[in-house]
Amino acid sequence: MALMITDECINCDVCEPECPNDAISMGEDYYVIAPEQCTECVGHFDTPQCVEICPVACIPVNPEHLESKETLWQKFQRLQAAQSDAAAAHGGV
Ligand code: SF4
Ligand code: SF4
Repeated sequence: MALMITDECINCDVCEPECPNDAISMGEDYYVIAPEQCTECVGHFDTPQCVEICPVACIPVNPEHLESKETLWQKFQRLQAAQSDAAAAHGGV
């Protein structure tokens, strides 16, 4: 499952740097999570880091992006592959 940030977000900025997938960014009014990049921290941590750190508990599961652990794991692997492709391209390898 990808997670989402609700309008209860107080823009405290603490979750953005905690995301291992760079899925969190500032939206129009408050922070948002890109569902295609959120693995619910699967592959990186045992628990969603943004949920752990959010002081107002405004990060529920996104009901439009319900995914199994298996699917999240595959997403993690895709993101890792894309990252190393980008790094290889950047390094001119
Ligand atoms: S659950 Fe993990 S991957 Fe998803 S937005 Fe939060 S910190 Fe990022
Ligand atoms: S930690 Fe919670 S309140 Fe703070 S910016 Fe992230 S979602 Fe918003």
